[in-house]
Amino acid sequence: MKKLSLDLKSFLQVVREFFRALGQGRTYNITKNWYCFFGILWGIPVPFVTIGIDLYSSAISPTVQNVMQIITLHPFHFFFILHPLLFGIVFGAMGTVRYNKEQKIQELDKLKSNFLSMVSHELRTPLTTIQGYISFLRSQKPGELNQKQEECLKISEEETEHLNRLIEDLLDLSRIEIGAFKVNLKSVDMKEVINKAIFALQIFADNQKVILENNLPNDLPNVYADKERLFQVVTNLIENSIKFNRRGGKTSINAFIPGKNNKITFCITDTGIGIPEDSLDKIFDKFYQVDSSQKRKYAGCGLGLAIAKRILELHQGKIWVESKIEEGSKFFFEIPTYSLKNNPL
Ligand code: ADP
Repeated sequence: MKKLSLDLKSFLQVVREFFRALGQGRTYNITKNWYCFFGILWGIPVPFVTIGIDLYSSAISPTVQNVMQIITLHPFHFFFILHPLLFGIVFGAMGTVRYNKEQKIQELDKLKSNFLSMVSHELRTPLTTIQGYISFLRSQKPGELNQKQEECLKISEEETEHLNRLIEDLLDLSRIEIGAFKVNLKSVDMKEVINKAIFALQIFADNQKVILENNLPNDLPNVYADKERLFQVVTNLIENSIKFNRRGGKTSINAFIPGKNNKITFCITDTGIGIPEDSLDKIFDKFYQVDSSQKRKYAGCGLGLAIAKRILELHQGKIWVESKIEEGSKFFFEIPTYSLKNNPL
């Protein structure tokens, strides 16, 4: 019974939208609304077929005079003659309903982007102040700290850092959505970037009892990249490989020297929980998490890979994944090597 009332509600909604569209000029505008044009085309054969059948069944030859005669004899043919118009109107109204929906989605998207950007900016200001006070206390200028106070301060520091990264991710997302996300490409030594990321994540790996193995070849050519942004990509991938690993597991980082296309492929392999096959594409969507339940045990907000994907696209590169449940995942990304051709300076 409940389902029936729900269906009736959506049916009434469709009817309302349809009648609203009938009152909009766009519905009847062939040049702006291709649905209307398509409807007219769709309706054109109808009068030909119905009059043709009538002529055929009455065994009359199809001359103009006979057609006129049959129409006056059977006035219901007027209804079929009007069909191209009727189809034009019905299809046109459907086109307008769709247009109205797209407009609404665009408006909502814009509102959401503005909201995202506003909230992230507003959060960043007080957070900077909090971080300032934490470092002030840490400097012990306002007084010496005892061990308990040191511990409390350490936790506050970690949590504010976590919040800071979340806000940075939200800001990056809003930049991506308004098309303001840019990269500054130069010659970059990826060994340096990856070593820095490993160094930053070593304590996390030790806590999780995950071994980090750096297998980068010594003769790795420089890439044409934005150093900070690639550090962000690599940090996210290595952090995920630790976060979604098992205790005693391993993360290894490899690179394959370019073949013909002059792009280096990096690979971050883990021995963790793996990703179900039907989620392999979705994990690069914003806010997507394989386990998004309230009880999920992994921190994060599902933005890292979406941002990494955009960063790599801006490098003329790409990112992809291979994974097996309970065995682990391999995240690959590819970026062009640096050459005088892609940077004539
Ligand atoms: P976050 O880690 O903040 O949730 P990401 O965009 O980095 O967001 O990752 C999206 C989702 O992809 C994760 O929530 C997780 O479900 C899945 N994922 C990413 N990396 C791995 C990995 N190495 N092993 C298993 N699952 C992963």
